[in-house]
Amino acid sequence: MNIRIGNGFDIHRLAAGRKLFLGGVEIPSEFGLDGHSDADALLHALCDSLLGALALGDIGLHFPNTDERYRGIDSKKLLNQVYSLVKEKGYRLVNADIMVICERPKLLPYIQQMRETIAGLLECGTDRISVKATTNEKLGSLGRGEGIAVYAVSLLEQVG
Ligand code: MG
Repeated sequence: MNIRIGNGFDIHRLAAGRKLFLGGVEIPSEFGLDGHSDADALLHALCDSLLGALALGDIGLHFPNTDERYRGIDSKKLLNQVYSLVKEKGYRLVNADIMVICERPKLLPYIQQMRETIAGLLECGTDRISVKATTNEKLGSLGRGEGIAVYAVSLLEQVG
């Protein structure tokens, strides 16, 4: 089998007094995502899609939130470790498609920087990294802006 697909999902609550990180980019906002690490739900969903493609478990298994080593950690480091594992298994990314559900702030001004950051970490062109954003049309908890959710799909191919 030389191609593998994986999906990932993550959701974090928004909280006052936290910085907002999404896709490895710090976004000016009065609220940030709450969590053990820097709470970058986008990179977490992406990590889970990469791990899922190779049936390597999930982010909670690799980086337990009970482990003090991961407190406040930059999630770019987690993605870097996950992608090292992917390469160790003899695979590389074909493309990733990421969908962020976020009522506020508006993400459009930051999408290109997220794509470039992720492409750098996954050693590919930005044309292989899609980041999209939508609102939840004010429906439910996401619609009230209580949190941000992210879905990710990654396709991997065997190298050589
Ligand atoms: Mg998370």
